[in-house]
Amino acid sequence: MSYDLLLRGGTVIDPSQGLHAPRDVAISGDAIAAVAEQIPESQAARVVNVTGKLVTPGLIDAHCHVFYGVGIGCIADTDCLLRGTTTVVEGGAPGTGSFAGFRKYVAEPSRTRVFAEVNLSTVGMVDLKWSEFAAFNHVDVDAAIRCVEENRDIVIGIKLRVSAPIVGGNPFLYLKAARQAADAAGTKLVVHIGESVASVPEILPYFKAGDMLVHCFTGRRHGILDGKGHVHDAVWGAHEAGVLFDSSSGGNHFSFDVTRKAIEQGFLPDIISTDITMPTAKDPRFHMPLMMTRHLALGMTMDQVVQASTVNPARALDRVPKLGTLQVGAPADVTVLDLEEGEWLLPDTEGQEMTVTRRFEPALTVLKGSVVREPN
Ligand SMILES: [Zn+2]
Repeated sequence: MSYDLLLRGGTVIDPSQGLHAPRDVAISGDAIAAVAEQIPESQAARVVNVTGKLVTPGLIDAHCHVFYGVGIGCIADTDCLLRGTTTVVEGGAPGTGSFAGFRKYVAEPSRTRVFAEVNLSTVGMVDLKWSEFAAFNHVDVDAAIRCVEENRDIVIGIKLRVSAPIVGGNPFLYLKAARQAADAAGTKLVVHIGESVASVPEILPYFKAGDMLVHCFTGRRHGILDGKGHVHDAVWGAHEAGVLFDSSSGGNHFSFDVTRKAIEQGFLPDIISTDITMPTAKDPRFHMPLMMTRHLALGMTMDQVVQASTVNPARALDRVPKLGTLQVGAPADVTVLDLEEGEWLLPDTEGQEMTVTRRFEPALTVLKGSVVREPN
């Protein structure tokens, strides 16, 4: 036998190599061994027929909350992996004071690949009724730098939420501290927007290439659109300069209206993510494929949607060679999706609804060469 596992008969969508075509995918051990038009079944120890399904690199959820037992964290292995996501990035629930616990009890034991942003706050997101900056002395730049240095294998950035209920009337004070920590530690600045006292053009000067702006399609005050519904010039400028925009939805941050207007103007999110938490995870259909469905319905192409859910976030987190691709030698993380046709009514987070006629559903997930979710 040449291969351990063969996914036969599917349509591969791998934007990292401009591939969207019928292909078989063969896996040996924990790596992609071959992607070709016809791979004989006799060459594989196990064959899974995925005819009629889409085969993509394992989905990467670049913003979710999986610090289980702390605040609103859900469970990566059940709430993400079993819904088609093979890699997650915890979006800043752990503060510098709780990061060691996150590492030992979540990141290390999880089967899912787990990365994280560390909150600029020492406390982190423990109780959403209270700001993580209830006291300004929860900002500790030195602790943030140390936390990044000690956990560089899994920490991809320093997280700051600039909404008024979190940082009050002076987001710049916090942006300055987070910028300073990110620069000193040599990591990304990751900023959650919406409901801030400062507009996006006012906060963008704190960003550098590779930094991430999260919730870019928020319907709350101070999003990426100006008063006339146009994408701010400063947003275009930052995007061209290499700032990454993540449309992370969650339960509060996704307006169909804003998303549609942005996409119509040619502004596409670099990254699609869920912002899944314990409350949103209660709906078994809250997952990366749902986020992809929304963006497809709002004007992105299938290849663009897959790109923003695989290779783009993989490049942003930049920890595992060839992650987010199905190139030979890449990690054998594969998501198989059904593209169902019908009529479904989907809500956004602003009280609007839309009817979609196509939706992605997770069918089979392969992580590090092992099948973790069987086909429907
Ligand atoms: Zn979040």
